[in-house]
Amino acid sequence: MKTIIWYQNDLRVDDHRPLEEALRHEDTIEGHYFIREDELSENRFGHTSLGPRRLQFLNESLDDLAGSLTALGIPLFVHVGHPLDVLDLTDRLLFQRSIGYNERLREQEVVSAWQGERQAFDGFTLYPREEVPFEKLPFLFTEFRKAMEQKARPERLIERSSEGLPCPVNFPVAYERKQLDERSAFPFKGGELAGRERLAVYLAGPVRTYKETRNGFGVDDSSKLSAYLANGSLSPRRILSDLEAHERGNGSNESTYWLYFELLWREFFQWVALEQGKRLFRAQGIRSKSKTWRVDEDVIARWQAGETGVDFVDAFMRELNETGWMSNRGRQIVASYFAKELGQDWRIGASYFESMLIDYDVASNTGNWAYQAGVGNDSRDRRFNIARQQDTYDPTGAFRNSWL
Ligand code: FAD
Repeated sequence: MKTIIWYQNDLRVDDHRPLEEALRHEDTIEGHYFIREDELSENRFGHTSLGPRRLQFLNESLDDLAGSLTALGIPLFVHVGHPLDVLDLTDRLLFQRSIGYNERLREQEVVSAWQGERQAFDGFTLYPREEVPFEKLPFLFTEFRKAMEQKARPERLIERSSEGLPCPVNFPVAYERKQLDERSAFPFKGGELAGRERLAVYLAGPVRTYKETRNGFGVDDSSKLSAYLANGSLSPRRILSDLEAHERGNGSNESTYWLYFELLWREFFQWVALEQGKRLFRAQGIRSKSKTWRVDEDVIARWQAGETGVDFVDAFMRELNETGWMSNRGRQIVASYFAKELGQDWRIGASYFESMLIDYDVASNTGNWAYQAGVGNDSRDRRFNIARQQDTYDPTGAFRNSWL
């Protein structure tokens, strides 16, 4: 029998339960990764989910994974299409479970057709399902965070170092390779190795002041780990484990705690996405708030191009367009502006982010967009005062000047 590891958003060898399970058997092992066809075609809002920057990052991540797997004698195959059209259903199937609605639909299709042995593992979240101490998730993050901090324990980290140089995969999609913009706050490559390097560099210094710098726009102002988490080049358990080791060696402070705090935000949105399923994508959000959204093509096109005439918003949008990156502060501001000031359907903004962001993650993106639009996990329905945000976070205009 052959063992198939079906890779999805878990592009690593470290802390990877399907791989460890595969290695327990004597069989031949193969790794397979499938790009969905719908990720490459335009969605109902005219955006292509897998834009060129994320494709490039994915390609780099898969090359890195292929190198690590080759060192273990495991080939990696990359396809466009559906696993059922390619795989032998009588083999042993191992995979890490997904969170997103479409991803889970595909998993169900595969699992119900599968004839051989199969086993699915958690691993995208910091905590396994049984450690989330709620029948139904609380509506607000704070309640979730407090309970998780008190009661939840992550599963054991399974260490495995990635050996072997990146090995180019037969990447089945042509895309335009982008040059690195020297202004980019995300000047990193994809892959487990690059993710581990970034984690080490960040924990060696910048993390000590994270709480003070995290609203800034520079490379080390925040961890820049999101893209590695999004495609699973890093496991959240690896980040927590290395963060705790850092705290044991150097002492904890408010900033080291705050990195964990933000990982809990990620965790919250993951579990919300899992619980809400398709409801997450409704115009009225998970709260069924009746709001009327506009769809003005010109207005949307100007927002996307960074040509609204509001400098702070335009600078962030141009940063996104040129680099595939935007800081958390920027994302909050442009999303609030899109939904609250322009009154446009927040799902179109979210869809644009999906096609542009290197670190796109369905749960974090949709959850944060709904939150900013006032239809998500926030009872206050706040509105950002853009002028005040600009005075606070870009008082000298340095950020705006570099992008406008
Ligand atoms: P850090 O500040 O260093 O935080 C550490 C980690 O905590 C991040 O890597 C991330 O995994 C998690 N985190 C931090 N803030 C949040 C948050 N608000 N929600 C969920 N997780 C968080 N994040 C994504 O990973 N993918 C997305 O597609 C995405 N879309 C977003 C859309 C909008 C409108 C907004 C407001 C936020 C979005 N975020 C998204 C959350 C957040 O902006 C990014 O995770 C963060 O900016 C990534 O930078 P970092 O890794 O340096 O974060």
